[in-house]
Amino acid sequence: MRLVLLGAPGAGKGTQADILKEKFGIPHISTGDIFRSNIKNNTELGKKAKEYIEKGLLVPDEITVNIVKNRLEEEDCKRGFILDGFPRTIPQAEFLDKILAELNMNLDYVLNIHVPDEELVKRLSGRRVCQKCGKSYHVIYNPPSLENICDDCGSNLIQRDDDKEETVLNRLKTYHQQTEPLIEYYKNQGKLVTAIGQEKIEDTTKEVLKALGVN
Ligand code: AMP
Repeated sequence: MRLVLLGAPGAGKGTQADILKEKFGIPHISTGDIFRSNIKNNTELGKKAKEYIEKGLLVPDEITVNIVKNRLEEEDCKRGFILDGFPRTIPQAEFLDKILAELNMNLDYVLNIHVPDEELVKRLSGRRVCQKCGKSYHVIYNPPSLENICDDCGSNLIQRDDDKEETVLNRLKTYHQQTEPLIEYYKNQGKLVTAIGQEKIEDTTKEVLKALGVN
């Protein structure tokens, strides 16, 4: 399965990608996770990306596309992959078409997870992530068993800097201006399928699997 997940920040792309990764045994490639790990390790890439991420802006295409190209060329992507958070602009989508053609690959589906804006703001402001393994929680909808502690690895949960309110509003604006046009782009390619994001993670997974024609 070669899959792109589209959707606004907070729509649940990362959470669903983790579930699909287990189900299909294919890698989950999140450009956001790649940037965050570079920021944590204070690499040159991390320093550049941070300037944009903390303002709720997109990292420039020329930086982002090469990361994805290198990752897709790795051995484990031969059996398939889930791209989460890439592409986010029309030029990135065109670049992806080009590298996939070079690698003799085709996307099976582009899955759009749709969630209304008011709901996204609620979700993002309550989101907490494990500072060690990156697992995502929500203070109300998906709390950990022990307050602020990751169920999987026992580390502390933190709020992502870019989940603070002002940045959230910028990220949503960026999404509508730059990423939403991709829905039409992939509709025209006949690749688009849609799932409506539900309150409960498992209900969204059901919608996602139905959209992908999988049980
Ligand atoms: P995410 O975890 O997918 O919400 O990504 C967090 C932030 O990383 C975004 O708000 C962007 O600033 C940056 N980012 C992630 N993916 C991309 C991309 N494909 N193009 C440009 N910037 C990106």
